[in-house]
Amino acid sequence: MPIATIACPHCTHRMSGPPARCPRCRGDLGPLARLAAFADWHYNEALRLYRTREWVRAAESIGVTLALNPGDTEAKALRRKIRAKLNRRR
Ligand SMILES: [Zn+2]
Repeated sequence: MPIATIACPHCTHRMSGPPARCPRCRGDLGPLARLAAFADWHYNEALRLYRTREWVRAAESIGVTLALNPGDTEAKALRRKIRAKLNRRR
């Protein structure tokens, strides 16, 4: 869902969704694509856990997403909602 644009770690060229190689410098983006997929997986997992009211596990998953992709605004919005639920519980 998120990961709107990514920057090539070799030359900082920005592009949408990681292709296999950077179109500008031909740098290998395979590891970056796997990280993006991993961040996405955790985002979806956090969303699922939020909907099933598992706030602590949702917070863990969204934490992983944001560690990998700190600029993800959708993930930040979800983290705010999860934190609100966690605070209400105490
Ligand atoms: Zn590049």
